[in-house]
Amino acid sequence: MSELMNNTKITDSHDQHFMQRAFELAQLAESHEEIPVGAVVVHQGKIIGEGYNQSIMSHDPSAHAEMIAIRQAGKRVNNYRLLDCTLYVTLEPCPMCAGLLVHSRIERIVYGTPDLKTGAAGSVFNLVSSEQLNHQITVTSGVMAKECSQLLSNFFRRRRAEKKASRNTVKRQSIPQKK
Ligand SMILES: [Zn+2]
Repeated sequence: MSELMNNTKITDSHDQHFMQRAFELAQLAESHEEIPVGAVVVHQGKIIGEGYNQSIMSHDPSAHAEMIAIRQAGKRVNNYRLLDCTLYVTLEPCPMCAGLLVHSRIERIVYGTPDLKTGAAGSVFNLVSSEQLNHQITVTSGVMAKECSQLLSNFFRRRRAEKKASRNTVKRQSIPQKK
């Protein structure tokens, strides 16, 4: 936690505002039993793309929140380059999404909570500001970090409990009943 606090940069009210929308989208993902991650793309103070994680329901491993928000934003501006745009996402992007963000030429990423297992914006890998790639993105982390991380940990805790409960039900059912 203390490490997270040290990494936290001063954020303005805009960042808070747009992260709040990304957070609502993450909650929407959860309502569909998807891992709760939400993202928005902002250009000149306006949201031009929104997405939430929907890999399971759309049978699409690429259907991450960032991917959906970026696709929508590209269509909105009629351009495959999202210059001067900022992506807000509740969880640090994975390597796939980090690669997409570099391709999109997005200017800035603001994420909520770090992903210490696969985060590719500095936690495990750093694909978004690598000098070896042809585009570097400014990263701000820790906006609504607590809320974003709690949403995820509550989701996984609930899912583990549900799995355990269903295993126990199966066990009970397989025990032969004496009469
Ligand atoms: Zn991703």
